[in-house]
Amino acid sequence: MAAPCAPAGRRAAPDRPPPGPARAKAARAVGAEVSRDAAVPLSSIWSDVDPVAAFASGYAEARAKFLATARARELAVESHEHPAARGPSGEALAVDVAVLGPPQASAALLLTSAAHGVEGFCGSGCQIALLADDAFAERARRAGVAVVFVHALNPWGFAHVARTTEDNVDLNRNFRDFGRAAPNDDYLAIHDFVLPAAWPPPPEQEARMAAHLARHGPGALQAALTTGQGDRPDGLFYAGRGPTWSHRVLRNVLQRHGAARQRLGWIDFHTGLGPCGHGEKIYAGPDDAATLGRTRAWWGADVTSIYDGSSTSARVTGMLFQAALEECPRATYAGIALEYGTRPMPEVLQALRARAWLHAHPEASDVQRDEILRLTREAFHVDAPAWKGMVVGQARAAALQALCGLAGGER
Ligand SMILES: [Zn+2]
Repeated sequence: MAAPCAPAGRRAAPDRPPPGPARAKAARAVGAEVSRDAAVPLSSIWSDVDPVAAFASGYAEARAKFLATARARELAVESHEHPAARGPSGEALAVDVAVLGPPQASAALLLTSAAHGVEGFCGSGCQIALLADDAFAERARRAGVAVVFVHALNPWGFAHVARTTEDNVDLNRNFRDFGRAAPNDDYLAIHDFVLPAAWPPPPEQEARMAAHLARHGPGALQAALTTGQGDRPDGLFYAGRGPTWSHRVLRNVLQRHGAARQRLGWIDFHTGLGPCGHGEKIYAGPDDAATLGRTRAWWGADVTSIYDGSSTSARVTGMLFQAALEECPRATYAGIALEYGTRPMPEVLQALRARAWLHAHPEASDVQRDEILRLTREAFHVDAPAWKGMVVGQARAAALQALCGLAGGER
């Protein structure tokens, strides 16, 4: 079996099939095994959920698993179906919301996946593993925290294996002030060669890219690219010129499930940055010492920040957390993006460039299309049991930390 973070070209072994009949109802929904032995009290912090079984091979399967797991927990699911877009097989696309724990609780923990579409392979797996987890559910109940699972914020991107929404928008750059022009001149200077004219890119474009890297370094390229830009709708990290559909859904969900809370915590699952399998806890909040301090008090001093240069992420704008501040102004807030590493950055960048080219060239051949989708999927998801175990383990730790923080440190 290949190591989960093997160099490109080595294939990880396929996932083993889910285990046989399980005893717990919620665990049955994902094919996982959960101990129901009387000797294991539900207050235990340990979980017997099989993390691998919580993952799916695509959006449609992920959605079915999420709905089945919520149903097994006897939770109502609120589905926000996209009015126009469909999946690759014509299937409906929706943001699905389920609330675990006391629904009227004064504190809520928001868990969101697939803001960046294809990154939902990971985020959905983490959500389903937590939703199937009896011990976690019991901890939430005892902490008096409602856990709001928002599955597939950007279902089009998840289903079509893209980081962007159906309108090529980077949802995590879309929460900006659209009335204020914010040109990203550094992006405009590189747009012509980062967005390829053909795939694979012509040698002339690759030469310009190499020259830029040699002159300015990878950090400058990352910052120019990932900060977000509103000038080139066909470009990378396009922030949009108005709220996209997923943006409006998220605000609606926050109004319904967050606005009345006194305390709100948020873990937003992402992939594609940092060392393979490592979950970087990136502060997701305003440039404000009190909120950053609270976030580090809940999740640890190793929470990184884009404001002080401690994060592998560049200082980006228009992030999701803006919606929480605006829709839930009375809530005491703390939040992180849990960013898991997958492949080295040059491979991730090549996948982004290829997928942007494909978005602009629907006439691409099936062979080329399949190759680009495979490249993209592998850039944002490591299809290996060890990696899945790593990411679910860290998600669970972060979620338990949040429950303690939201409960005021009493438990
Ligand atoms: Zn992301």
